[in-house]
Amino acid sequence: MNNKPARLVIDVLNPKKDDIFKEQLKSVTQARKKGNKIIVIDAGHGGEDPGAIGNRLKLKEKNIVLSIARLLHKQLSAYPGITVYLTRKADYYVPLGRRVEIARRYHADLFISIHTNANRKKSYRGSSVYCLSEKGASDKASRLLAKRENASDLIGGTIWAPDNTTKAVLFDISQTSTHNESVIFAKKVIGQFNKLYPLSMDQRVRTAPFAVLKSLCIPSVLVETAFVTNKQEEKLLSSKIFRAKVAGRLAVAIIKYFYGSKYNIYHTVKRGDSLWKIAQLYGLSLQQLTKLNKISKSGTIRPGQKLRIKY
Ligand SMILES: [Zn+2]
Repeated sequence: MNNKPARLVIDVLNPKKDDIFKEQLKSVTQARKKGNKIIVIDAGHGGEDPGAIGNRLKLKEKNIVLSIARLLHKQLSAYPGITVYLTRKADYYVPLGRRVEIARRYHADLFISIHTNANRKKSYRGSSVYCLSEKGASDKASRLLAKRENASDLIGGTIWAPDNTTKAVLFDISQTSTHNESVIFAKKVIGQFNKLYPLSMDQRVRTAPFAVLKSLCIPSVLVETAFVTNKQEEKLLSSKIFRAKVAGRLAVAIIKYFYGSKYNIYHTVKRGDSLWKIAQLYGLSLQQLTKLNKISKSGTIRPGQKLRIKY
């Protein structure tokens, strides 16, 4: 397997991470009580598993997707009625089954796994969205992609044993309604990514047996944002403004999925926010943000104020 020397992997329980998990479970209960939608965002790979690596800038998938996931987390956290959790917050590896378990234990309403694509052919480019399929992949490329993404646990070097409830869920295959919901959300993502210049979006919702989508009872999609092995797209992904736009488009897809397509997205101003910071967070220019909200560039904002965000 991938030319690595033989090694002994010792799984040590990390009390700090476990405490964070328990703390988060408390906040999940509170969020549920308030009637919030719970979204789990999964940045693929991490730690020993770098994911795909770019040809020119040598960008690593694990870092790109963590950046997008964090931006999306920040954007959605400024939105009332939505509570967001990340499966990993930094550069460490989380086994695929554990990611599924986090979504399940948090009773997520939506699970999004973020990746970047790769191919030996440097001309391959564009974005695509995937849902789970137990029956097999929609095409050969999707099957190979799922195989590669599923190999993460081998590279990440962590062994994970699902608890009994997760096992039971994994064997319950009568989840057609969840699949339909996943497809509805995937189409919203396609609709938004269509406007993400200059990416070319695959218009079909593809299916493949991705291990990380196997929560089955939670609408789940995997987004391949762009090809890190393509020169132009690697350059795009290296830009924080572009990553903020990718996150912003995902945020719009999420809001429209839960609240309807006519719903507009806005940012609730927090203490310490500035117009410039907010514009950066969404990948907008200061001018775009101020014009949209009919305020001057030097205008003041106050905590609690709602600013429109539009692309
Ligand atoms: Zn990946």
